[in-house]
Amino acid sequence: MFEQQIERFLKRHSYKVIEPRAALIDMDGTLYDSMPRHAQAWMRMVSEIGIHATLEEFFLYEGRTGASTINLLFNREFGRDATDEEIKDLYHRKTVYFTELPDVSPMPGAQKMMRELEAAGLKRVLVTGSGQSSLINRLDADFPGAFAPDMRITGRDVVKGKPAPEPYLAAMKKAAVSPWQSIVIENAPLGVEAGDAAAAFTIGVTTGPLSGNALEEAGAAIVFPDMPALAEQMPQLLAELSSVSNH
Ligand code: CA
Repeated sequence: MFEQQIERFLKRHSYKVIEPRAALIDMDGTLYDSMPRHAQAWMRMVSEIGIHATLEEFFLYEGRTGASTINLLFNREFGRDATDEEIKDLYHRKTVYFTELPDVSPMPGAQKMMRELEAAGLKRVLVTGSGQSSLINRLDADFPGAFAPDMRITGRDVVKGKPAPEPYLAAMKKAAVSPWQSIVIENAPLGVEAGDAAAAFTIGVTTGPLSGNALEEAGAAIVFPDMPALAEQMPQLLAELSSVSNH
């Protein structure tokens, strides 16, 4: 069913085999339907300091650390990086505005997707650029047993966030696996780019306003139209990935 996509991925990364042992999973827009609220919180914060932005652009920045997004906007608007204090203050304001918005829900299909990974015996590592503790702290309630306490990489654990491969390489280290033993699950172009740059089989899921093409262009090995579709086909996909042999 997925031979073509798997074959294309193997060629591109010069792999002979894949042996999925760990799933490295993004949080916002993948596990939680949180992106619209993040975008709203960003808009409120930046408009207060006179930065012109659109709601849509925050979907393109998705995956970046807060500091990186703030610097990008500062350079565009003020021609300079933000100071460490400004970053701390502004990111704090954004996280407060986020928590003031109505509660976000787990992405439909995400809980089933996590159970399928667990049933297949894969280690799971959370890989998020976010430092939004209001969501990170909810993971255990919404996804019981999905992530061991030490199997989490957040925006605080990396120097160069997505689209750099560092967060995913750090996750592989935590799970003690190699890139060819890793699958990445992502919803945003910059996150997909990071997963592919880390040489993992990167699954893109379109859960927001961006198209599947945007994820393919960023390097997704395969794209699913939504999370329920991925959850449904996960056992088949993992079976096919594991059965790849030397051609
Ligand atoms: Ca995301």
